[in-house]
Formats: sequence, C-alpha cells, structure tokens
Amino acid sequence: TITREGSNLELRDLGSTGLKVSCVGFGASPLGRVFGPVSEEEAIASVREAFRLGINFFDTSPYYGATLSETMLGKALQALNAPRGQFIVSTKCGRYAEGFDFSAGRVTKSVDESLARLNLDYVDILHCHDIEFGDLDQLVAETIPALQKLREEGKVRFVGVSGLPLEVFSYVIDRVAPGSVDVILSYCHYGINDDTLEGMLPYLKSKGVGVISASPLAMGLLTDNGPPEWHPASVELKSACKAAAAHCREKGKNISKIAMQYSLSNKEISTVLVGMNSVKQVEENVAAVVELATLGRDEVILQEVEAILKPVKNQTWPSGIPRS
Ligand code: NAD
Repeated sequence: TITREGSNLELRDLGSTGLKVSCVGFGASPLGRVFGPVSEEEAIASVREAFRLGINFFDTSPYYGATLSETMLGKALQALNAPRGQFIVSTKCGRYAEGFDFSAGRVTKSVDESLARLNLDYVDILHCHDIEFGDLDQLVAETIPALQKLREEGKVRFVGVSGLPLEVFSYVIDRVAPGSVDVILSYCHYGINDDTLEGMLPYLKSKGVGVISASPLAMGLLTDNGPPEWHPASVELKSACKAAAAHCREKGKNISKIAMQYSLSNKEISTVLVGMNSVKQVEENVAAVVELATLGRDEVILQEVEAILKPVKNQTWPSGIPRS
C-alpha cells in the first residue's frame, strides 16, 4: 500500500454522479503504445506516481493499443494494492481495433472482457466510444438501454458518451431517458487552440451531465516532441502549434505546462484527462496544476501563444459518419 500526498490536487464533483474526481485525470491511451513505446515497468511506475500525487481518475478503452492499454492499466492498478473505493476507472465500449459495434450484444460482452483485463469487478464509468462513428438512433434505442442493464447488474456505475463533434452529445442527451447518460467525454475542444466546448457547458450543466475534457495537449500538438504520425490535424494547425512550442522554448517556457494550466482553469470542467506514459510527465503535469493553484497562470506567455495560434483558433478536423 502506498502513502498518498493526495491533498495536492483539487477534487471536483463529476456532474450528478456523486463521484469526486481529481481535477487532472490519467489518460491511459499512451499505455497502449499509441504515442510510441512504453515499457511495462514505466507504465506501472507512472500510474503509481499519479496515484501517489493525488490523481484518482484513470481512463482507458479496449480500442487503445488493441486492448493493451486496459491490460497495462489493470496490472498497474493491481500493483497499487489500494482499496477499490480510492480510485475511479472509466473504460469504453463500441470501438475496437476491428471496428465499431454499438449493438447491445457486443457492448454487453465487451464489459466482461474489459473487467477481466482490468482485474476489476466493476468500472465506475463506461463510455460509448466515439459515437459519431455509430448510428446515433441505435445508441439511443439500444446501446444506452443495454448499459442501464449493466448498471443494474453492478458492472458499471455510471454511463458516458465520448466523441469529437460536440453536436452528437446533445443529440443523444435530448433523446434518452433523463439520468441515463451521466457524463460526456469531449476531447481536443478545451485547450489553447480550441475552446469550443465552453459554449456547451451551460447546456450540460442544465442537464446535470458531468464534463470530462480530454487532450489538453491536443494529442501531442502542444508538446515539444510534436504530434504522432497519425495525428489528424491540418498541416497549417500542426505548423502553428510547432511555432508556438518553439516560441515558448525561446522564452525559457514549456508549451505543455501552459496548455495544461489553460485547460485546468475552467472549474465547470470536472477533470482534464491528460495522456501520460512516464513518471516524468506525471510529475510535470501535477506540478503545473499545483503551481496554477498557488501562482496562477502566466498570462504574458499565454497571450503570446494565443497570438501565434489565432489564425488556426478553433480549427478542428472531420470525424465520424457524415450527417445531413
Ligand atoms: P493529450 O493531449 O493528453 O496528449 C498526450 C501526449 O502528450 C502523449 O504523447 C504524452 O506522452 C504527451 N505528454 C503528456 N504530458 C506531457 C508533458 N508534461 N510534456 C510533454 N509531453 C507530454 O492527448 P491524449 O492522450 O489523446 O488524451 C488524454 C486521454 O484522454 C487519453 O489518453 C484518453 O484516455 C482520453 N481520450 C479519449 C478520447 C475519446 O474517448 N474519444 C479521445 C481522446 C482522448
């Protein structure tokens, strides 16, 4: 069992769930090696350090690294040897290495597979993964009701939906029984280069839906190493972010720290999920949050970065099935 310095990180209410999530969450997609190699030792050590520093929320999916992320996270959580009530785990269903399947049969089976890989009896949150690739009416009529059954069986505590285009969230939330979607997981829409999620926050609040915002580093765009090969951004957006990172370096600053602090500043967002695959990244990101709470944001460098990114502000990329 490990000693925690937990008081370092603010806990926030996640919508109406009653869950109290750390304001920074651990995105485990890098543990599936989607951002490059990571050893099992480093993966386990990263999760351990995150937990020690007060991160209590861990997110994965069977899609990340074709189930590898779930397996690695499962091993790392087991190695913590912590009481189950001390950490919150979300995984997903409907998106797999072999493709999309939001049918009731597949998602029901999927949960058992995920629980086995994670070494858990239940997950706190189960998200339908990247719903813009599915038939949203099937999601409303079949998938979400199937997840309510899993909730009754105690395998899942809360239900979420994830995706890139923001309009899919209201499409689903407006059509399902109240209380059957507890949270949304949005990504790449609350960061320095794109903050369009902000406009949706009052609506989500009115519905009592909790907000998880992922990818504060825009999936690598706002890092010194730059994005992975598969990153879907335009050449223009990639080069603007590269210029912003270079500018920060010249000024002795770090783009990732500024980006983390920007995404963390909005308290209507319960938790910011950042992908991490090393102890060093965990320590840097937690330090950025702690510094934000004590010193506030570095507004001068932030304004300079915003000026560089202005021509590409809120530029995104297509995702999912084209809808009329
Ligand atoms: P991110 O913006 O968090 O960036 C992750 C990348 O930044 C990785 O390469 C990581 O190694 C690197 N990094 C992290 N901290 C750093 C630091 N201090 N300095 C330099 N580099 C650093 O993108 P992400 O990982 O895609 O998103 C976070 C998490 O959110 C995911 O792991 C996943 O759990 C979740 N997510 C879900 C969806 C979805 O449901 N559709 C989509 C995107 C993300």
